[in-house]
Amino acid sequence: MVRFRGPLKVACCWSRRMCFRIEEGILWCMQRHRGKFVGLLHPFSALVLLSLIGFLFVYELWYVLPLLTDPQGIWHKLNWLLAIYTVFNILGNWWLGFMCNTAVESLPPKRQHPSAGEAHLWHYCTSCQKLVPPRSWHCRLCNQCILKRDHHCTFSGNCIGHNNQRYFLGFLFHLSFGSGQALVYNAMLAWKSKAFLVTDPLLFMNENHSNDPDFNWKYTVASMLKLNFFLFMVPLGMFVLQMLMVYRNSTCYRILDRSYDVGWQQNFNIVLGNRRFWTFFSPTISSPLPNDGTQWFQKQHV
Ligand SMILES: [Zn+2]
Ligand SMILES: [Zn+2]
Repeated sequence: MVRFRGPLKVACCWSRRMCFRIEEGILWCMQRHRGKFVGLLHPFSALVLLSLIGFLFVYELWYVLPLLTDPQGIWHKLNWLLAIYTVFNILGNWWLGFMCNTAVESLPPKRQHPSAGEAHLWHYCTSCQKLVPPRSWHCRLCNQCILKRDHHCTFSGNCIGHNNQRYFLGFLFHLSFGSGQALVYNAMLAWKSKAFLVTDPLLFMNENHSNDPDFNWKYTVASMLKLNFFLFMVPLGMFVLQMLMVYRNSTCYRILDRSYDVGWQQNFNIVLGNRRFWTFFSPTISSPLPNDGTQWFQKQHV
């Protein structure tokens, strides 16, 4: 036992040091080539996002919906309206989240410095070389300190923090809702076409599909259903995680920190503003936040 403890300990230390060096190397590389990295990553992510939204929108409304409802009927028109409203909310929240400045520099000059008696709560950022408010952290991609930093979102091309988390939540909510709406259409079409299990590998091996003249059609319908299921689960999972963060007033940056939890209602007020869940109806609804992101009430540890 004693003989193996030494080498094992050395191996653990060595691998930890290697991981640390690799991480440092990646961060150094990112910092050094920040402009090029961000200039490529953000447009690429935005292009992927817009292509997926556009593809699902066209496929569902021009291709799937006419096979499920009468194109002249009221249900068809209502589903069209609902889809347009959802896409408006996705793109509106996405755009406003991108445009919203949530950096410490967005504060009025007077608030960028601690007021009397607050300096001990602020901390020094070695990159910005100045004191920054509590819960503000430096982002290497944005190259600035972000108020109540949650994480950097490459799809939004911005950091998610105190001022724009409301838009990020609205974006995820409508992304989940829209892909959920598409999932219902695709499931109905798969049911109608008897295509539910066509792409199932076991069924595919057991059954002879060569005699089925509609096999290619069924295969497409079933594959789209599976792709859609994936595109529904990803934003839904992220939305649930974000709601949990807001519910506890913690952030992805410090996921287990519950020291700022002031009760779920007040926690949601802090992120969504005084109109709270009404903000999910439209990104244009004005909902002022109760504070500017520099002062945080922290629970006293017993
Ligand atoms: Zn900083
Ligand atoms: Zn950032």
